[in-house]
Amino acid sequence: MALAHTLGFPRIGRDRELKKAQEAFWRGELDEAGLRAVGRELRAAHWQLQKNAGIDLLPVGDFAWYDQVLTHSLTFGAIPERFRPQDGKPTLHTLFAMARGRSGDACCGGAQGQPGFAQELTKWFDTNYHYLVPEFSADQQFQLSWEQLFEEVDEALALGHKVKPVVIGPLTYLWLGKAKGAEFDKLDLLERLLPVYGEIFQRLAAQGVEWVQIDEPILVLDLPQDWKNAFERAYNILQREPLRKLLATYFGGLEDSLGLAASLPLDGLHIDLVRAPQQYPTILDRLPSYKVLSLGLVNGRNVWRCYLEQALDVLRHAHERLGERLWVAPSCSLLHCPVDLAREDQLDAELKSWLAFAVQKCGEVAVLARALEQPEAPDVLAALSESRAMQASRAASPRIHKPEVQARLKAIGARDAQRLSPFAVRIQKQRAGLDLPLFPTTTIGSFPQTPAIRLARQAFRQGKLSAADYTEAMHSEIRHAVELQEGLGLDVLVHGEAERNDMVEYFAEQLDGYLFTRFGWVQSYGSRCVKPAVIYGDLSRPRPMTVDWIRYAQGLTDKVMKGMLTGPVTMLMWSFPREDVSREEQARQLALAIRDEVVDLERAGIRIVQIDEAAFREGLPLRREQWKSYLDWATEAFRLCASGVRDETQIHTHMCYSEFNDVIESIAAMDADVITIETSRSDMELLDAFEAFEYPNEIGPGVYDIHSPRVPSTEEMVKLMRKAAQRIPAGRLWVNPDCGLKTRGWPETEAALINLVAAARQLRREFA
Ligand code: GLN
Ligand code: ZN
Repeated sequence: MALAHTLGFPRIGRDRELKKAQEAFWRGELDEAGLRAVGRELRAAHWQLQKNAGIDLLPVGDFAWYDQVLTHSLTFGAIPERFRPQDGKPTLHTLFAMARGRSGDACCGGAQGQPGFAQELTKWFDTNYHYLVPEFSADQQFQLSWEQLFEEVDEALALGHKVKPVVIGPLTYLWLGKAKGAEFDKLDLLERLLPVYGEIFQRLAAQGVEWVQIDEPILVLDLPQDWKNAFERAYNILQREPLRKLLATYFGGLEDSLGLAASLPLDGLHIDLVRAPQQYPTILDRLPSYKVLSLGLVNGRNVWRCYLEQALDVLRHAHERLGERLWVAPSCSLLHCPVDLAREDQLDAELKSWLAFAVQKCGEVAVLARALEQPEAPDVLAALSESRAMQASRAASPRIHKPEVQARLKAIGARDAQRLSPFAVRIQKQRAGLDLPLFPTTTIGSFPQTPAIRLARQAFRQGKLSAADYTEAMHSEIRHAVELQEGLGLDVLVHGEAERNDMVEYFAEQLDGYLFTRFGWVQSYGSRCVKPAVIYGDLSRPRPMTVDWIRYAQGLTDKVMKGMLTGPVTMLMWSFPREDVSREEQARQLALAIRDEVVDLERAGIRIVQIDEAAFREGLPLRREQWKSYLDWATEAFRLCASGVRDETQIHTHMCYSEFNDVIESIAAMDADVITIETSRSDMELLDAFEAFEYPNEIGPGVYDIHSPRVPSTEEMVKLMRKAAQRIPAGRLWVNPDCGLKTRGWPETEAALINLVAAARQLRREFA
């Protein structure tokens, strides 16, 4: 019998109960006992849901307050000095302080450089989940300091469950952390960390646990040789400890680490066959005959139902070879998909029949396991035939496959992804038409989203505000934004984005081929959850999406009004994509839809269009060898959407992050006339990449950190721009904030923009 297990289950709850309880606790409206009770209820409910779905071995340790990497830091006593409790015993308050900064206020007490600043947040591999980066010092000590895992194991055992505790492996944990203070090699800490793992395994064994899952996803990265060697060292030591150990890898293939992973002295290996199906035959050959092999066949990263028959083909084959040593699972933890499709009571029945969330995915895993044992059982036969029918209906559905979109994609030629003239020619025509001063000033798009704006949008959605009244409310916001920008003396204006809830959802809602869930929440970080839109079919734009708003804004001023769009790569990265066509093809479909919008804006008299690509860099694959292919299609998609216009129309793009070294060539290949980026916090250092590469087009390095309510002075911004001008010719520089201003308040925004315009004027005098 193949055992059905999961690597982890979403912790947030079907109704985001965990978010609500944590936030109530932070506000002082729920006490610690109340918060802990919510956690206990959620864990009990999640184990039961998985068990009911047919999962044999349930995960423990996937629950976390705020973040699971943070839980490990507490467990190991890796608590930065600024949070270390007097008696050495961390509490929930310690944990939340590490996550949110000591005052609990992310903006002030939590800010970098303040005494109680929070640990850094960063993306968990290539997901949209963010973890808290462990901080290590050269004299770092580790000792078991947090009982949560053992308590939760007892809790599950008391409920009568068969459990498999989940821990992040020592190498992955160290890899994810950051060395602070004097320079040293994080690997030097390994020997100090391993005894804590030993202690954990002994404690778990004493509790009656048989298996432990050790997550080492860094095995799918390009690992340096010393880290590979450390794997052997670590697991040779840990093999002496009790428990049967399952090494879990996911988010990609093992490739050059395959032999290593297969041969480590552990009792089982989990591999991700959704992301890397090609590794299956080699693993089968290399796996020692005493080891369990767990196959991740149900996608833990997306919302589609599994093609059961296809998965079963692989399983049957593996079963012949492995027999009892075969396990079945989702590809990775289900943390990355929404909780329960059953909640979606308002979704179109056909679309719903194509989807599976975490609870449904558990059912798929269980059916696959059962199908090996009892292929003729009625429920197995029913599930298989339903899956077959569903796949057939999708493959032929006119709701997915649109001949017009296909024909248009086929007709794309190389010329379509290229502006008419090279930049040097375009920029002359643009300068002649736009008549902008040296160091032109602009903003990134959004202005403060006030409660009044949110209320108006909400009332309109709920049908409490008529379309005419809503339009008037938005027009009034636009008038306010335009008047203000004219008064400030900004050169290139924006309409302010009051009508947008979110830079992806706003466009997704207007495209054909997207669906929306009501409860499809996924944890992003801490108590923050996102509800990505789902691409289900060929994408097209039935009608203009932004033209009326931008045209209205342009009609109010003689200054240049910048149109504002989200780019194809960002649209794709922040949605759940299709699995039946490549990401590349979906990006091209999005690009064509956005291209039409750009052309329509130009026709409406708009002379500058900004196409935001906030997610361009985060799309980079985990393995370097896959970078080129990604960067090729991503830059092509951008160019495709930007190249339908005349030379005179200026295309801007915006990216709000700071590491460009790896992608600078591709940024140049996007060939935007102007790029605005985040630079204020890095003191313009990141412009080094642009300088070294001799980036040819115009750049607006942000001079105002919009993450903070602090108003930078004119002098500060002038200094930053002088630094920029040492790297980029002054004639190619713009002056602008780091990113959109939607999270800021009006008073600080106005004050900062007054200083920004003054800074540009001073620079013009200096550089004239
Ligand atoms: N135009 C968007 C805004 O200003 C850009 C947001 C982003 O880059 N994340 O809000
Ligand atoms: Zn931004």
